[in-house]
Amino acid sequence: MRLPWLNAQAEALGSALDSERLGHAPLIHGPSGLGKIELARWLVARILCLDQEGRAPCGACRSCTLLEAATHPDLFTAGIPEEKQQIPVDVVRDLCRGLQLTPSVGRRRVGWIEPAEAMNRNAANALLKTLEEPAPGTWLVLVSHHPERLPATIRSRCQKISVHPPSAEVAMAWLSAQLPDSAQEQLALALAAAGGAPVRALELLRDDDGLAFGLEIRQALLELAHARPVAAAIAEEWAAHPARSWGWIAHWVHQWMGQAMKAPGPAAPGSLPMPVKPEVLARMWQQALEGRQLAESPIRADLLLGKWLLEWSASFPAER
Ligand SMILES: [Zn+2]
Repeated sequence: MRLPWLNAQAEALGSALDSERLGHAPLIHGPSGLGKIELARWLVARILCLDQEGRAPCGACRSCTLLEAATHPDLFTAGIPEEKQQIPVDVVRDLCRGLQLTPSVGRRRVGWIEPAEAMNRNAANALLKTLEEPAPGTWLVLVSHHPERLPATIRSRCQKISVHPPSAEVAMAWLSAQLPDSAQEQLALALAAAGGAPVRALELLRDDDGLAFGLEIRQALLELAHARPVAAAIAEEWAAHPARSWGWIAHWVHQWMGQAMKAPGPAAPGSLPMPVKPEVLARMWQQALEGRQLAESPIRADLLLGKWLLEWSASFPAER
């Protein structure tokens, strides 16, 4: 594995497969930016690799070569089609039909669904029969960033594999190896902004504006919370990138929620004025998540952001 913190999990999945303890529908879930897709790809390659003695996909057999070229005839994938928001039913039906065919390379077939929570209701229903009565030698690999949005009928039939953030040491060592020229403080800041998810942190560090934009948002939210003035046009400016802005807003509010739930102590620099009720933060966070979902809709992002910011600044006790 290219991502060291997933090694142990990959190995465990491999031995479960070898000893026939791997459920036919593993559901790999966890926050974004941890490498879930990489782990799922590894598992698919491990299932399909023709060298079944190896502890990792051999990378050289016909199956591995076809996977590398994305032309494996026994791998059936379902994802969100371009210009759609969901995985529609016909995509899942095609996948289920494919899994009924005789495998042409080895003796196994795999269905891949990512992001699984994007299946609409009909698509999820169409999958149920395959989940209930899998053909022998068939696996369904599901990847979900939000498993709570999956219907319970689907979730209960899957073997849940949860991916967790690595320790800060492991994450920092990996980030330093990817970006040997970056300062440790930058790496640590990106890792914190990414909620400990190293792959997401790397994306932020590679995007020149990503981290700076996020920090600008954090600063403005703090100024407002301390009743200090910020540029009136800020909502308009953020509305130019609504999905990214709401994402950062949700991120920082979530981080402050964690702090507000801990025992009150002296306020650290860059913290909110106290006391602030965790339930107020939870509500603001929820609204930010909703804002992000509406980012693609025709609702004017600047109005929505402006309304949120007003409520935000009204949520804090006046400072004496
Ligand atoms: Zn192979």
